[in-house]
Amino acid sequence: MSAPAITEIDRTLAAIDPQRLLQTAQELVAIPSPTRSAGAVADKLAAILSADGFKVERPVADWPEAPAVVVRYESGRPGRRLQFDGHLDTVHLPFIPPRFEDGVLYGSGSSDMKGGIAAFVEALRTLAATHTLPGGGILLTAHDHHEGPWGDRRQLRALLRDGYVGDGVLIPEYLADRLPVAGRGSAIFDITITRPGVPIHEVLRPPGTPDVIAIGAELVRRLHAQNGPLSAITAPYVGSDSFFVGKFHAGEIFNQSPTECHISGARRWVTPGQREPVLAEFRALLDELAAETGTTITAEFDVPGDAFSISADEPLMVAFQAAHNIVTGAPLPLGNKPFVDDGSIIIGETGLPAITHGPAATGAHTLHEAVTLDELVRVARVYALTALHFCGQTV
Ligand SMILES: [Zn+2]
Repeated sequence: MSAPAITEIDRTLAAIDPQRLLQTAQELVAIPSPTRSAGAVADKLAAILSADGFKVERPVADWPEAPAVVVRYESGRPGRRLQFDGHLDTVHLPFIPPRFEDGVLYGSGSSDMKGGIAAFVEALRTLAATHTLPGGGILLTAHDHHEGPWGDRRQLRALLRDGYVGDGVLIPEYLADRLPVAGRGSAIFDITITRPGVPIHEVLRPPGTPDVIAIGAELVRRLHAQNGPLSAITAPYVGSDSFFVGKFHAGEIFNQSPTECHISGARRWVTPGQREPVLAEFRALLDELAAETGTTITAEFDVPGDAFSISADEPLMVAFQAAHNIVTGAPLPLGNKPFVDDGSIIIGETGLPAITHGPAATGAHTLHEAVTLDELVRVARVYALTALHFCGQTV
């Protein structure tokens, strides 16, 4: 790609207004928006963007409670479209109002992720005001239904399904120390082992009554034994496949034979596209034990996301690293993504590159969210310059 001229870079960076960015972040944090109830803050964001002169669309996207917020900014020249995508909902914790003190913004969503959304709004304003984007455009999308277990990410999936998608995506989650190029897929499992009959005193058990606790223990042993071969399945940055059991529950009193045993944990894998084979193999292991023991073994799986990897040669990655280098003096080291976020969903469902990069904020999912204004300004700069590098070229 051809690099943007120095003057365009300087003009763009000079136009980023820290006070305006902070004001936007505070206005968003000031409106409570627990997951599935982000309608009022979506209205606020739409009002802010309208006041800035943008035409705002409000697609319902499977969640009438809080229609999404969409802005399309076009340079008027051919080129790629960079998408800024963020979630406006916050976890269900008591509301903390915004407070700015000694350069730090506190309050619900300041880390996760209203601060990051304010940064991409500021980047958008800057690009529109300076007309420095060499081609293509910006698609801004903001939505509800992200945070689990309350949200099921239906609104993001609906936006993707309905075509609200760019040629590359930036997600402002609070990850700043690495550029995530790979992540493991995960399936959270909930297994129930059931024997026929009713709970009964152990000395009165008919001969051959299956012992669901012993069978559960055998299942845990078999899952752990899988970790030997699974540890050989590796991928750069993310480690290996694994099984983990975090919860085992059965029985009421010491001398009663129970009918059920519950086991839950996580199966993680490193190879993209392995979701179905991994689950099929897991089910086969359960079916084998059920057949051996005369029990019924059922499993429920929640799969937040498949494994992914992105090539460091992707134009979006190259553009991002160029921007990061200009803003901070160095590219980011490559690394893993420790969580499953909307970027993982976008990569899995569309195959498009998505980069998770946000402020080095703290306290996500606690009552102590905090982010410095310096970090918000830094990411606004990185977002704006990523657009300058990415959008000038045609797809
Ligand atoms: Zn988040």
